[in-house]
Amino acid sequence: MAWLAHPVPRLDVPATVDVRSPNALEFVSGMHAVGDTGRRFGFRSIDLDEGSFTAFGPLRRYVVDLPAIGRRPARIDLALVGSDPFAMSDEGVRAWVEEAGGVVAQLFGRFPVDRSTLFVLPAKGREGVVFGKVLALAGASAVIVLGDRTPSAARHDDWVLVHELFHLGFPTFRGEGRWLGEGLATYYEPVLRSRARWTAELDVFTEFARNMPRGLPPRGSAAGLAYRADSGAIYWGGALFALAADVKIRERTGGKRSLDDVMRAVLDRGGDATRVWTVAQVMKLGDEVTGTDVLTELYDRHAARGEAIDLDGLLGALGVEVRPPLPGGTEPEVELLDDRPLSAMRRAIALGAP
Ligand SMILES: [Zn+2]
Repeated sequence: MAWLAHPVPRLDVPATVDVRSPNALEFVSGMHAVGDTGRRFGFRSIDLDEGSFTAFGPLRRYVVDLPAIGRRPARIDLALVGSDPFAMSDEGVRAWVEEAGGVVAQLFGRFPVDRSTLFVLPAKGREGVVFGKVLALAGASAVIVLGDRTPSAARHDDWVLVHELFHLGFPTFRGEGRWLGEGLATYYEPVLRSRARWTAELDVFTEFARNMPRGLPPRGSAAGLAYRADSGAIYWGGALFALAADVKIRERTGGKRSLDDVMRAVLDRGGDATRVWTVAQVMKLGDEVTGTDVLTELYDRHAARGEAIDLDGLLGALGVEVRPPLPGGTEPEVELLDDRPLSAMRRAIALGAP
């Protein structure tokens, strides 16, 4: 992640990197390739603040082709780092990435970036995914640290890969908006896995009911989401903002528009993870495409001014009944009711269009 020194002063100039290494030293980078040698890369020098993942040394390389409507397939270059095997086998990892890419493609209508590089590193003796991160400004890339003991059958239990691949379909912000990028990923990851039938509708809303309270402003605090730096606000405050926005857009448009349309519109205007946008641009385009002022209004009230979103009211209307933990348990129990004003909307969110 930090193998290229950043020039000082931090000018914004075009930069080209040529890589020369002995043949024995394997090399793969997510940096934006120039030409077809795989050894020349180009980007803006300022984007080295974020850059792109790069790996040197023993690697197994695979290609994953994903749907890209009306053009050549979107391609993920998959690099399994090191020479130790995964319990799910290389083919199992490849198939899992293809499946997760398909889950994300359902939302956007295609996989969000034409070219990207995914590095999978083994975590010795572990099960499940233990870490994930996207770096995209010098070229779309992501890293996943996968327990080498994870069986193929456990792939639908993982949330990290879908979360990271989702990030590729939304712009990067500089010095703002982490709550929006992480909030949307935290909202859409369970929703998309449920739409793909990896999980059930009840799983989605159980997770929301148990975790979204962490996103509410602390009692007595007047700080809006845009000014809070705690992870509760960034992940779950952002996710609650996304749920409130989705519900309001669906309500105001009689179900004709949803937050999905906002996500597609942003990507259609070039807003993938390799681009820097402002939060204001997203809000403005979102309102334009839904023909409402939902996003601007929610932003002013909850992100700028710090008014709390009525989470209990929202869940109640959606028919998400939250009950105290069972004896011996610590987490609230959740039941879905189908006779509430927005029960049908809840199903549409979690299961996708019929
Ligand atoms: Zn994230």
